[in-house]
Amino acid sequence: MKINVDENAGFCWGVVQTVEKVENILKENDNINVYILGEIIHNPQEINRLAEKGLTTISTENINELSNDAKVIIRAHGEPPETYQKLESKNISYIDATCPLVQNLQQKVLKYYKLGYQIVIFGKYSHPEIVALRGVCDNECIVIKNNEEADSKINYNIKTAIFSQTTIKENDFKNLIEYLKNKFINVEFIVNNSVCRFVSARENNLKNFAQENEIIIFVAGRNSSNGKSLFNTCNSVNKRTYFIESIDEIDLNWFKGVTKVGITGATSTPLWYLNELKQYLEKIN
Ligand code: SF4
Repeated sequence: MKINVDENAGFCWGVVQTVEKVENILKENDNINVYILGEIIHNPQEINRLAEKGLTTISTENINELSNDAKVIIRAHGEPPETYQKLESKNISYIDATCPLVQNLQQKVLKYYKLGYQIVIFGKYSHPEIVALRGVCDNECIVIKNNEEADSKINYNIKTAIFSQTTIKENDFKNLIEYLKNKFINVEFIVNNSVCRFVSARENNLKNFAQENEIIIFVAGRNSSNGKSLFNTCNSVNKRTYFIESIDEIDLNWFKGVTKVGITGATSTPLWYLNELKQYLEKIN
């Protein structure tokens, strides 16, 4: 049985930067408490690895319990302005590790919001990136996930700017725009395709990889929306795609008669864990 790890798998650029920042802070601050607001990435193995080095995951509600010597890291998804205000009012030092692409999206949303546009965001209402974006425009934006929600929530008679969550499927966004483009008659409608290029490029490469292998083991955290989306991409071209969060979920029956196995994962799945899975499969091969 040949076991292939997807050469395009591993962390996206934004997550690599965040993890590097966190590791440097942990190295430099041996004796102080280092916290991160929310899971650094939706991957239990990476969370545990960094927890062993001293990183504690907390939520924004815990900020009030922190002592003044705490150091807080803001993760790649970003945070709404009120989180920054909370940290500053408590005099807690923080490091902003928001992905530069997400920061850029926040600035664009703010710009159109200030110009008086109706702001529409295509994405998941409770996703941390969307929570931060909602905060940027005082929670006055409209978040939609399909055409029906668009019709029930959007006012088609006022100037509008639409954005997408960075991790959604680009095709879904394009289909929505196709549906919306004739709804705004004589009204300005600005489309900002803010799907992350890293994510869209991975989609295409992933399809080829899934077709080249007989079965695919797809590794991601169950909370990862990018994981769900990329799993569906694999599954659309290879029905023998199995989703796991950890190696102990492997079922040996999947491999009967199989000669070519592909291992891949979400943009939040560390490459070291995919290689560990490869070693495990090689041992039982
Ligand atoms: S998926 Fe894209 S936008 Fe999101 S953290 Fe990674 S590089 Fe940044």
